[in-house]
This record gives sequence, structure tokens and C-alpha cells, in this order.
Amino acid sequence: MLKLEAAGRTDVGQVRTTNEDAFGYCVDDGIFALCDGMGGAVAGEVASRIAVDTLIERLCAARSLENRHKVLEEAIATANQRVHSRAELDCTLRGMGTTLVALAIGGDHALIGHVGDSRCYLFRDGKLIRMTLDHSLVDEQVRLGQLTQDEADHSPLRNVITRAIGTQVSVAADIAELDLKGGDILLLCSDGLTRELSDDRIAALLAQGGNVDELCGRLIDAAKVAGGHDNVTAILVRAV
Ligand code: CA
Repeated sequence: MLKLEAAGRTDVGQVRTTNEDAFGYCVDDGIFALCDGMGGAVAGEVASRIAVDTLIERLCAARSLENRHKVLEEAIATANQRVHSRAELDCTLRGMGTTLVALAIGGDHALIGHVGDSRCYLFRDGKLIRMTLDHSLVDEQVRLGQLTQDEADHSPLRNVITRAIGTQVSVAADIAELDLKGGDILLLCSDGLTRELSDDRIAALLAQGGNVDELCGRLIDAAKVAGGHDNVTAILVRAV
């Protein structure tokens, strides 16, 4: 039976004055969620907080249910409805939205749900494997062969996401499944990390070893040293 160790950190970065990222987790229930909000004034912060809190509440309440895939889909749908209806009620929050990436782990099985460009990675046997495809304009163009990854990374349109929580009445989440092995590390992160650090750099930092809290701090610090242009958030989960 695998046990989980986890750590999470968020940082406003070196440029912004507010932090629109949010995260939450419940290690004992194997539930982890990270959101990167968007919208004017405080709207981004409100959207990401509502979405994280809804995910944690719904998934922890539903732990005994059989069909975890469906439970995760419904939790994401509820998060979408709550952000969307809050934005409808309050004109200062209109148009707000958030990315979402969530993990639900039971035994040695993990479900990964996401909407937007926050990512999940698996670090296994010294290799970093990206588990999510960004719902972003440039990533979709890369998949269609219209842009190279390098062009995408430097495109002025790289912030444009094609799916978000809360901006529409309903949303389609991508859900992936993974069988975990002892020693695996899962990383959830906002684009403030992946814009500053290449996948190779993230892998090299994780390969240095240490406990999950030290590793998490190392990732955040490296993103800030690299520029810290955006809010940066990471959750690390190690199966032991
Ligand atoms: Ca961001």
C-alpha cells in the first residue's frame, strides 16, 4: 500500500502585486487541487478560491463512492457552476474564470483532471513526463503542426487559454488515469512555474532529492530567480 507525502507553496512572484493562484489538499484523502484565476480587480482571486474549495469539499465528501471518475467530473462541473453563477450575480466579477488541475489518488491509482494551462507532471525513474495537454491556443497549434514548441513558448498569444472554469455555463474537463509506483512524484503547477523553467530544468531540480517541502521550495525559488513574472504555485505529491 502506497503512502503519500505532500507539500504545496504559492508565491506572488517578482512582478505582480496580487496572487490569483490558489491551492488546497487533503493528503489523507489523496485529494489535491490547484487553480490559476483570471479577471479584473479581485475577480481572479475569487474564482480560483471558489474552484479549489469546491473541489476539495466535493471530493473529500465523496471518498466512499465507487465511480471516482464520475465523482471528479461532477466536482469539476460544480466548481464551474459556482464560479459562473457568482460572476453572474456580481458585476464586479463578471467574466472571471480559472484554470484547474486536480488529483484524486486512491491506493495506487490516480485520476488527473484539468481545464486550462495549469499542468500535472509525473517524475518517475529520473524522467519528467507531462500528464496534461494545455487548453491553450498555442498548444493546440503545436498539436496541429502549425507552430513549433519554441515558437509557442515565445508567442505573444501564449496566455490565451481555450477552456476555463467559470467563463461558460458548462465546461469539458480532460481526465486521465495513472497507476502509481513507489517513488513516483506528481507535480501540479501553474504556468508561473512552467513559463520560467523548462521541463529539463524542473527534472534536474527534482533529481537533486530531498523531502517534498524542500523540493517545492526549490522549484518556486528557481522560478523567481528566472524572473518570477507571474504568480507561481506548485504542489508535490510523493508516493512512498
Ligand atoms: Ca498564471
